[in-house]
Amino acid sequence: MIKIIASKNKDNSLMKQMETLSKIRTSLMNDSVAKEICEENNMGVWFLASVPINFEDLDVTAKTVNGNITLNPKLMKKSFKIIMRYVIHELVHAIQHVEDYGTKQDDKRKDYLNREDEIEAFQYQVKFDEQIRGEDKAEEYVDGLLDFHDIPSDQKRDKKEEIMEKV
Ligand SMILES: [Zn+2]
Repeated sequence: MIKIIASKNKDNSLMKQMETLSKIRTSLMNDSVAKEICEENNMGVWFLASVPINFEDLDVTAKTVNGNITLNPKLMKKSFKIIMRYVIHELVHAIQHVEDYGTKQDDKRKDYLNREDEIEAFQYQVKFDEQIRGEDKAEEYVDGLLDFHDIPSDQKRDKKEEIMEKV
């Protein structure tokens, strides 16, 4: 048996994670972009209440496996807006997993930003970002994303338009 003794000091990171998860859930269930993601995928908004979200050490910032969203605890250092930006992106993947359940739709061999599942996730993520931080910041983010993934300069304009399509 493992005995867990709650730490009373301010560094109770488990408590902080629980608080953040509660804040994420409330915000997700009330977010217009999150609701739109459900509606456009013919998924009831009840999904926002049930999609599993937790914190766990990862080698990436966030990931979704079989509809379960996992966030890296390092995200706790970021602002809540940034945390939600990741949650919105992963929410799209969670819905994709549920919709594609039982079918093999693995295009993981394609380059990251040429994958349809990633494009859809980024489109909503950027829409969310635009609503929360404004179009300039959202556009700046997309520019950085294209640079980070080494999109050749002759393809940048099209790719940017594609990712910002829902803005
Ligand atoms: Zn993704």
